[in-house]
Amino acid sequence: MNAPETSFDALLEQAAVRLEPRLVAWRRDFHANPELGNREVRTAKVVADHLRALGFDAVREKVAHTGVVGVLKGGRPGPVVALRADMDALPVSEEVDVAFRSTARAQWNGLECGVMHACGHDAHTAILMGIAEAFAAMRDRIPGTVKFIFQPAEETPPLGENGGAKMMIEEGVLKNPDAGAIFGLHISSSFRTGFVGARPGPSMASADDFRISVQGTQTHAAMPWRGVDPIVVASQIVMGLQTVVSRRMNLTKEPSIVTVGVFRGGVRHNIIPDEVKLEGTIRTYDEEQRAEIHEHVKRISEMIAASGGARAHVHIHKWYDVTVNHPELTAWSMPVLARIAGPQNVGEIDKICGAEDFSFFQQQIPGVFFWVGCTPPDRDPDTAAPNHSPRFYVDEKCLGIGLRTLGGLALEWLAANA
Ligand SMILES: [Zn+2]
Ligand SMILES: [Zn+2]
Repeated sequence: MNAPETSFDALLEQAAVRLEPRLVAWRRDFHANPELGNREVRTAKVVADHLRALGFDAVREKVAHTGVVGVLKGGRPGPVVALRADMDALPVSEEVDVAFRSTARAQWNGLECGVMHACGHDAHTAILMGIAEAFAAMRDRIPGTVKFIFQPAEETPPLGENGGAKMMIEEGVLKNPDAGAIFGLHISSSFRTGFVGARPGPSMASADDFRISVQGTQTHAAMPWRGVDPIVVASQIVMGLQTVVSRRMNLTKEPSIVTVGVFRGGVRHNIIPDEVKLEGTIRTYDEEQRAEIHEHVKRISEMIAASGGARAHVHIHKWYDVTVNHPELTAWSMPVLARIAGPQNVGEIDKICGAEDFSFFQQQIPGVFFWVGCTPPDRDPDTAAPNHSPRFYVDEKCLGIGLRTLGGLALEWLAANA
């Protein structure tokens, strides 16, 4: 009689222990050598070399500029599951005092800047490399195929360039072989290390930016009646925009946000300028509300400007759609996560106002995007520096948890659908 096979959970637990030093080394290497969106050349090479050394069936490079896609066929028949990690860093100058601190500098949209993995994508890439290694070692047991997607430019590509998840999809990453589901994770300092959370349905916001140019007529500041003051008109527009969410949206359905982050105009105290430029962001959790808000922002700006004798030109750029976790797949995932990470460590989380281009994958196939805490026990997640901060700090204990949870969901899904 054969001995019972070791469970996938146990195999991944062993792998997480065995690979921990490598996970940490990869993450620190990426952290010390961060690369901005569409410039992840070194990172992509490290990833592709690793996948090839593991004997992957296919390793495709330069997908959406610098992306890498690896395919690992298991020894047993079954469906195809995709796992995604993002690889890009941010134009942030690191202030964390660690030996592998980033001192990298680069150009971002024409400006010289520091570069830092301030969103934890170094950890995501290391975790997915670890899963690749763990899966390669147990490939005979895997019922199906695993597609490893290492994505560039999640934090948006540089101005004037395409990239990210949308471009990877256009280049066919979910096809041939066709993936039936996709899973991805994000680490966050808002949660303690050990915590794993997700939310069914709309869980991260859509993100769009708007630019409004308010055209007045320049004149002497002591004779405002001789011109049209765009500073006063733009101020009225800022106040008018406060009514979009508070008075026009059904807040019982979903929350939404309209923020003006830039108000720029004028050069001297005694000149009323010709023009004021406003910029801001729109966040929603519902595509219908998103379209409505776009209309309101445009109409309020144009009509207020007209009432003051000025003109407003509104341009709205759509970035990422709402990240919608597939409800049934999320409901299926939660007990799997609880079994792996411990029921006391897994929970449903609040909506997150950030945006993710993982949303584009989820429009193609069922997908779940979940969160893994990275704030160590001696710090408070409520006051820890958030993702994107120059002081964003990662407790590397999250790496093994990421490997076990993301890898575990993939294996469990393959087994359940084989
Ligand atoms: Zn980010
Ligand atoms: Zn991120």
